[in-house]
Amino acid sequence: MAKANPMADEMRRFTGTDEKNPFEAMSERFDRAAQLLGLDPDLYAVMRVPSRELKVYIPVRMDTGHIQVFEGFRVQHNFARGPAKGGIRYAPDVSLDEVKALSAWMTWKCAVVNVPFGGGKGGIICNPQQMSLGELERLTRRYTAELFDFIGPDKDVPAPDMNTNEQTMAWIMDTYSMHKGYTVNAVVTGKPVALGGSLGRREATGRGVLFCVNEAIKRFNLTPEQTSVVVQGSGNVGGIGAELMYNLGYKIMAISDVHGGIYNKNGLNIPEVLKYLNANKTLEGFAEADRVSNSELLEIECDVLAPCATENQITSENAHKINCKIMAEGANGPTTPKADKILFDNGVFVIPDILANAGGVTVSYFEWVQDRMGYFWREDEVNQRLEEKMVASFNELCAVADSHNVDTRTAAYMVAIERVAYDTRMRGIYA
Ligand code: NAD
Repeated sequence: MAKANPMADEMRRFTGTDEKNPFEAMSERFDRAAQLLGLDPDLYAVMRVPSRELKVYIPVRMDTGHIQVFEGFRVQHNFARGPAKGGIRYAPDVSLDEVKALSAWMTWKCAVVNVPFGGGKGGIICNPQQMSLGELERLTRRYTAELFDFIGPDKDVPAPDMNTNEQTMAWIMDTYSMHKGYTVNAVVTGKPVALGGSLGRREATGRGVLFCVNEAIKRFNLTPEQTSVVVQGSGNVGGIGAELMYNLGYKIMAISDVHGGIYNKNGLNIPEVLKYLNANKTLEGFAEADRVSNSELLEIECDVLAPCATENQITSENAHKINCKIMAEGANGPTTPKADKILFDNGVFVIPDILANAGGVTVSYFEWVQDRMGYFWREDEVNQRLEEKMVASFNELCAVADSHNVDTRTAAYMVAIERVAYDTRMRGIYA
């Protein structure tokens, strides 16, 4: 009789065939790394699923006077290493599976950079572009009230993600504090600096991408001045990341937003591009650049491609057309598992999302520490500590990739899974 294999059963239970389902994409990478590590099946069963999935219905009085009920989520993936940590996303197409995947990525990301948090993520199905500031405030406050028992500095610490920002965090902090009866600024990170935010947090994710790219180009004997870069997305991660790279001498040849991109093979003046985008709300019409679609942009020949927009941008359909030496994943989940294999076979050096964009959560950790100390650091101290963490994590991951002869993404999952597994075993959570 065949021997029972609980790990294989679990894998079958959770893995489907949808290339673009982010939770399946996360699970596939997790499974590969877990198998390579020979992870204990009991630990595997605990770590592969979220700890909690919360769904809330949020009634909001709209400006018309009518009530609209919004659907929201908070998923807390893992607490073995500390409170859950992760952003809140407002989008019309946000789904529970997406939030589950994002919460798991947060667990692995926090473990890769070795900060004492687990993973969490939240989302509300809404179209923030079509809502007034008042409607967004009421939505945020009611969502916070629904989550009141589940969040807190020692439980779960939200942060901004797509379409949420420091104003959203200030509303959450205020609502949580109203219920507590005193100010609790460590309940969220990514707050305005004047309300307990950290200097350097706004730029942290883009800066973390920069620190990783600085290390990666050394492997190709390139200097910033010799390195051409293409960036998808021009928001917090892509825009700031591109500007920081530009300031260091990198040649940024193309950048985009959701509507498409601009390209100049001799390089773009990124501060001017961002000024133009801010003033005109579009990149279209920017002088001395050709217009490219987002899919064309990804295929431009360059040294570094930085997808910094959203999930599922590099799939089995376009991975063979990717023409870069290094890919720095500023976004969460921009590459599907099927694309991973194609990129690996084509020799692309991937800086996986759970390391490349971990600068944000690293400085969020610094913010949480500063809030709890009530003592705030200079910006250069924040940036220096961030650089130390990113460079150390990058080198650690490369060492694991080299010693196990695996791709960098698998190495990142292996580092993360080992840390979470060790803490879970030591705590005896599943005993
Ligand atoms: P943002 O909203 O500031 O910017 C997103 C950018 O991507 C915008 O330029 C937008 O126009 C563009 N975009 C959106 N949808 C697109 C699409 N379908 N195709 C092409 N472009 C599109 O968001 P952000 O904070 O920069 O986040 C971007 C990514 O980075 C997300 O995956 C997010 O989860 C991840 N991330 C962000 C942080 C952070 O600190 N902000 C930290 C870690 C990871």
